[in-house]
Amino acid sequence: MQSNDLKTLRHSAAHLAAHAMSRLFPKTIFTIGPATETGFFYDVLPERNLKEDDLLFIAAEMQKIVLQNFPIEHREILKEEARKIFPHNKFKLELIDQIPGDTVGIATQGEFVDLCKGGHVEKTGDIKHFKLLSISGSYWRADRNNQGLQRISGTAFFTAEDLAAYEQQQQDLIQYDHRRLGKELDLFSFHDEGVGFPFFHPKGKTILNVLTDYIRSLLNYYNYQEVSAPILLEESLWHQSGHYQHYNNFMYFTEIDGIKHAIRPMNCPGHILLFKERRRSYRELPLKYAEFGLVHRHELSGVLHGLLRVRAFTQDDGHIFCSQEQIESVILETISFVDTVFKKLQFDDVIIKVATRPATSMGSDAQWSHAINALKNALSKAKKEFILLEGEGAFYGPKIEFHIKDSMGRSWQCGTIQVDFNQPENFTLEYIDNTGSRVRPVMIHRAILGSLERFFAVLLEHYKGNFPFWLCPTQIRVLTITDKQKEYAENVVKLLKKEGLRAETDQSSDPISGKIKSAQQEKIPWMLVIGDKEVQKNRVTLRQRDGSQTFDLTLEQIVEKAKQISI
Ligand SMILES: [Zn+2]
Ligand SMILES: [Zn+2]
Repeated sequence: MQSNDLKTLRHSAAHLAAHAMSRLFPKTIFTIGPATETGFFYDVLPERNLKEDDLLFIAAEMQKIVLQNFPIEHREILKEEARKIFPHNKFKLELIDQIPGDTVGIATQGEFVDLCKGGHVEKTGDIKHFKLLSISGSYWRADRNNQGLQRISGTAFFTAEDLAAYEQQQQDLIQYDHRRLGKELDLFSFHDEGVGFPFFHPKGKTILNVLTDYIRSLLNYYNYQEVSAPILLEESLWHQSGHYQHYNNFMYFTEIDGIKHAIRPMNCPGHILLFKERRRSYRELPLKYAEFGLVHRHELSGVLHGLLRVRAFTQDDGHIFCSQEQIESVILETISFVDTVFKKLQFDDVIIKVATRPATSMGSDAQWSHAINALKNALSKAKKEFILLEGEGAFYGPKIEFHIKDSMGRSWQCGTIQVDFNQPENFTLEYIDNTGSRVRPVMIHRAILGSLERFFAVLLEHYKGNFPFWLCPTQIRVLTITDKQKEYAENVVKLLKKEGLRAETDQSSDPISGKIKSAQQEKIPWMLVIGDKEVQKNRVTLRQRDGSQTFDLTLEQIVEKAKQISI
C-alpha cells in the first residue's frame, strides 16, 4: 500500500511526462494520467506511434522540466473557460462534460496546462527520482470498442534509494522468474503436445515429493485420513454438486459405455461419496479426508502462465465433515496447520482475510452468524489479526484466506478454509448424533498450499532457486580432485544415501574448479571435496553454497550435520 504522499508524487510525475511529450510531440492528444499502485501512467493519442526508444528522450525532457522547477498551480475555472483550453481534445471535452458542477480543476506548470482535480507536489523540482518503464497499448476508458491509445508507464519515489530498490526488485523478477529458473535448474518443462500441462523433470519431481511428504507427515499429526478418488466420474455427479451449472466451461468431458463422464475440476464430490458410503456416527466427527488430488481445468490459452496458471494440477486438498459445534475447533486446528507450514517454508509475513455473507446466499441467519463467529473466535484464540471482507464470501458459506508475502515483496493467496452449507444439502449428508437423531454435518474445504504446481513456482521464486537443504533435489555432491579418489567417493555417496540423504558424485572429467562451478550453478548446497589427503585420513572437506569451507570432517560428522538441517 502506498501513502497518499507517494500517490501525489506519482500523479505529479504523470503530468511531468505529459509536459515533456507536449514539448517533443506537440500534436499529442492527452487523456488521463493517474497514479497506480506501483507508479503512474499517461494514456495519449500520439502524433506518431511511440516506441521504447522514445522513452529516453521523454525522460531527458522530463529531467529538464525538473531543473526548471516550475511551481505546479491548481485552480478551479468555469467549464466554459476550460473548453477553450482544450478545443481539439475530444477526450478532455468529454471529461469536462461529465464532471458534476459548473467548474473544473486546471493544473499549470510552466507552459503546460492539464485538466485535473488536484493533488500535486509543489513544484516540478520535487519530482527527482522517477523512471519511465514501458509503452503499451490501451483504449479510451479501457473499452476495446473505443479509440486505441498508447500508454506511457513509469514510477517515482521520494529517494534515490527507494528507486534503486525498486529497480533491483524489477531485475530480480526477471532473473528469478520461475520459468527461467525452471529451465536453468532442469526442474520442469512444457511441450507443444500438451499446452498448459506441465512436465516435471526428475529434480523438480523430487522437490514436489519432499514437499508432499512433509505435508503428509502433518496430515498424520492432525488426524487426517488420506484417500484417493477417481479423476473421471459420471457427469450426473457434477450436476448434483452444481459444478456443472457453474463451471462446465472449464471442464473436460468424455463418454464411457454411452454414459457422459467428466474429468474432475475439484475433489469435493469424490470425498462426499466416500463420506456417504456408510452410516456415520457423531463419534467419527470431525472426519477429515485429505487427498493430493489431480484436477483438470480448461483455462483459456491466453491466461496460461508457466506453472502459475496451468490446465492440470494437484491440490493438497482436505475436506472436513463436522458438527456445527465443532466448526471453531476445526478452524483453530487448521490455522495451526497453515502456520506450521508457512513457518517451515520461511514465509514470515502472512495476511489473513475473512470473507462474510454476500447479498445472495443460502442457509439461515443463525447458520451464518454461528459460522462467522466460529471463524472469528478461532482467529482470536490463535491471536491472529485479520481483514474483514464484508459480503465477499461464497453464496454457500464464509471463508478464511491466507495471503503470503514472498522474498520479492509480492503477495500470493495460498491457503483457504471454506465453510460449506450447500454440498451437505445437495447430497443429503447425515450423521447420527448422540440422541440417535439424523443431523446434517457441515463440510469444510481446506487447502494449505493450494495447487502444488503453482506453489512450486511461488517457492522457486521466493528462494530464488536456492532451496533450503531439506528441499534440495541434490543435497550433497561429492567431488574428487582426480579419478584416483573415485572409489572412495562412491563409497561416501553410498553411505550418505543409506542415511536417507540425496547425494551423488560428479562423473565429469572436469578439473575440481570446474566441478565446483557446476555444483554452484546447480545451486547444490553441499559439496564434499576429496583429494588424496582426505582418502588417507578418511576425512572430507565440506564446501557450502556460500563458499565457506570446513576441513577434516569425519563422515559421521557430515551425516550428523546434514540430518540436523534435513527435516
Ligand atoms: Zn493532476
Ligand atoms: Zn472442496
